[in-house]
Amino acid sequence: VVEAIGVDKYFGAHQVLKDVSLTVKRGEVVVIVGPSGSGKTTFIRCINHLEKIQKGRILVNGHLIGYRERNGRLYEDAERNIARQRREIGMVFQRFNLFPHLTALGNIVEAPIQVRGIARAEAVETGKALLARVGLADKANSYPAQLSGGQQQRVAIARALAMRPSLMLFDEATSALDPEMIGEVLEVMKELAREGMTMIAVTHEMGFAREVADRVVMMDEGRIIEDTDPTRFFTAPASDRSKAFLARIL
Ligand code: ATP
Repeated sequence: VVEAIGVDKYFGAHQVLKDVSLTVKRGEVVVIVGPSGSGKTTFIRCINHLEKIQKGRILVNGHLIGYRERNGRLYEDAERNIARQRREIGMVFQRFNLFPHLTALGNIVEAPIQVRGIARAEAVETGKALLARVGLADKANSYPAQLSGGQQQRVAIARALAMRPSLMLFDEATSALDPEMIGEVLEVMKELAREGMTMIAVTHEMGFAREVADRVVMMDEGRIIEDTDPTRFFTAPASDRSKAFLARIL
């Protein structure tokens, strides 16, 4: 589903991603870990072209993201093509970014109706089913301000799923939550993983990585320094930097 090849990313003169390559197959759950500033968030944002890359390429479902290739050179793609590519990709951020003036259900049906052109009645039916799936069947008519952080984040996940993405990206989806709400969001993410959703998740939740990840990818200073199964990562990390990282967070 995802193929990143030799990706370099700079912010000004500062190189944040260095020759990053990663392949994620359909149904795989990949957790990205690493110290603060190692480039995890930047990399995941490059996958749906929220950030431009300066070298390499990223393909999602076989389509080059953000660029068009002509005579071996890459050109920035038209905004509407990028928007079309993004429909395939659900993204959940640290901050939930719900529309404050729309109800939970309103937030979920907005994009399917506006972007996918789905009839309102159908979108509402699907939206309600998605709310039930994230355990919020009774909150359809609540506004974001009336919901807890954990509930808002579950609405954000339902909203992403409403577009029927083939890939879900999670960028520290639980980092902004109070401890007692982290579990309920992780539970929804685990359920999705078990159902076979292709997922890339940046997270500090090592329990999640251990339980549902097919692979753990460790980043350090803009590079992928380890890409392995969770059992090995947690019991016998290959590099000293992975060991040091684990010693700090476990
Ligand atoms: P954290 O776990 O703290 O979120 P991270 O591994 O996700 O860290 P990134 O957020 O990807 O790391 O940041 C990588 C580097 O890029 C950092 O040095 C950061 O300061 C820098 N950076 C991130 N976004 C920008 C930006 N918009 N402009 C300039 N520099 C940026």
